[in-house]
Amino acid sequence: MIEVVLADRCVQCDICIKVCPTDVFRRGEDGVPVVAHQEDCQTCFMCEANCPTDALYVAPFDTPVPEGSTHTDADALAESGALGAYRAVIGWGGGRTPGSTLDRNHLFAPVSTS
Ligand code: SF4
Ligand code: SF4
Repeated sequence: MIEVVLADRCVQCDICIKVCPTDVFRRGEDGVPVVAHQEDCQTCFMCEANCPTDALYVAPFDTPVPEGSTHTDADALAESGALGAYRAVIGWGGGRTPGSTLDRNHLFAPVSTS
């Protein structure tokens, strides 16, 4: 579930608000998204994948993490390289190899049209 929004990285582009399929965010008065409905998060990672500044962190669980978890600790997440890690794996962002070029899914493999 979405756990962290880093205000100091956010450029207030609203992309996460727009791409979230379940309207988890609302725009805060300062322009930084607020997690308004965490219970509606479906851990799809779309917000994290689309954030241009790696300002969001979605923990890979379908329930909120306990209070004090490292999954809510921005410094610990930054130190471990977790911020932006998903985006890097799928190849989104400048200088990265698009994941679709590496995917071995048979549907992406060349097939004959005849
Ligand atoms: S992980 Fe998906 S459902 Fe959850 S806040 Fe991000 S975009 Fe919305
Ligand atoms: S996508 Fe990232 S930079 Fe844009 S508003 Fe959301 S958290 Fe901020």
